[in-house]
Amino acid sequence: MKLKNIRLFVIFFFLMAILIATQMVAFGASQYTITVSCGPGGKISPAGPTVRVNSGNNQNFTISPNGGYAIADVSVDGSSLGPVTSYRFRNVRANHTISATFTPLAAYAVTASAGVGGTITPSGAITVNAGGSQAFSIVSGSGYQIADVLVDGSSAGAVASYTFSNVTANHSIAASFSAVAPGGQRALVSVTMDDSWLSQYTEALPIMTRYNIKGTFFTVTRYVSDQYEGFMTLEQLRWLKAAGHEIGSHTVTHPDLTTLGSTKLNAELANSKAWLVNNGLGPIYNFACPYGEYNNTTITAIKKYYASQRSGYDEGYNEAASLDPYKIKVQIVLRTTTLAEFSGWLAQAKASKTWLVLEYHQVDNSGDEYSLTPASFEKQAQAIQASGIPAVTVKQALDELASAGN
Ligand SMILES: [Zn+2]
Repeated sequence: MKLKNIRLFVIFFFLMAILIATQMVAFGASQYTITVSCGPGGKISPAGPTVRVNSGNNQNFTISPNGGYAIADVSVDGSSLGPVTSYRFRNVRANHTISATFTPLAAYAVTASAGVGGTITPSGAITVNAGGSQAFSIVSGSGYQIADVLVDGSSAGAVASYTFSNVTANHSIAASFSAVAPGGQRALVSVTMDDSWLSQYTEALPIMTRYNIKGTFFTVTRYVSDQYEGFMTLEQLRWLKAAGHEIGSHTVTHPDLTTLGSTKLNAELANSKAWLVNNGLGPIYNFACPYGEYNNTTITAIKKYYASQRSGYDEGYNEAASLDPYKIKVQIVLRTTTLAEFSGWLAQAKASKTWLVLEYHQVDNSGDEYSLTPASFEKQAQAIQASGIPAVTVKQALDELASAGN
C-alpha cells in the first residue's frame, strides 16, 4: 500500500470515528425519557406514554381535568406536587416520570317533577356538579297552561324555563298546570288501557307517543307485583308515568267487586292504591271496575279511595253538565270495531262537545276478541289526531269537566 493511500485510510477512519461519536451524543446517551401516566378523568399534554428530551433541554407539561372532574394530584419522580395544572422539567439530565390523577367533583341532585297537564325537561333526579348549572324547560300539554313553578317550595311564577346556577346544594323544581278551557266547551278523548297487558307497553305506547296521546293505564297490581307473564313490570309502569301517562287502579286481583263482602271489597280498593303509591306511581286518582260490574255498595266504597270510576259497559259520551264521575261512560274497542265506527264516535264527541272514553285491552296479534292489532291501533291513533280532539288522561279530562261553568 502506498503511503498516500494509508494516509487517506487513516483520515477516513478518523472521520468515521468522529461521525459515530457525534451520532452517540445526538441520539444516544444525551437523550432522556420522561414517562407520562394519566388516570381517568383528565389528560396530560404531551400525553406520552413517553416523551424524549435532549440533554439539557426543558420540557413543559400541562394537566387538565375533564368536565365534572378536578385534579387530585400530580407527582414527579414519585413525589407529590399537589393539584398543579402545569409542570416544567428544567435542564433534563436524567430519565423522569410524571403522573396525574383526577377526582369527580362533588355533585348535587335537582329533583324535577310535573303535575298533570304538562312536562318538565329533564325530569326526575338530575345530578349537577358543584358549581355547575342546570336548565329546565316547562311545556303545557294540549288544553293546559302552566299554573306555577315552585323552586325549592317557593313560587317562581308561571315560567316556561328555569336555570339553577352555581349549584352548591340539593334543589327541587315542581311545575303545575291548569286547564285552559272550561268543561263543556270542546270535545275530549281519553285512551284507557285495562289490566296492565305487556302489549300496551311494547305495542301501544310507541304509537301513542307518535300521535301525542296521553292515556290512562288501569293497573291490576297483583299482575305487576307478582310478575305475571304477559303483563307489564313495575319499571315499565314507571316509564309510562314518566312519559306523562296516568296510572289508575283496576284492583289487586281483578275480581267482580259486586260478589265481595265489605272486608275484601275494601282491601281490593285500598291495597291496589297503596301499592301503586308506595311504588312511586302516585298520586292515584281514578279507578276502573273489573268486568264493568258495580252497584251502589261498590260505588260507596270506591268513593272512599278514588275520584272517579270508569265503568265497563255503560256506553256513551260524557257531558260536562250531567257527568257522574263514578259512572264514566265508555266505548269499548274490540277486534271487530271498524275504523268507520271508531271515526263515528270521534265525530259524535266533537259535534256534541263531549268526552269520549275509549276502553282498550291488548294491542297484539293474538286475535282475541278484546285485542287490536298494532296496525288497527295505529289507524285509530291517526283518526284521533286527525279529529283535532285533545287526547288527554282521565285525570285531565275530569279536571277540565269539573271547571264547567266557572
Ligand atoms: Zn279488566
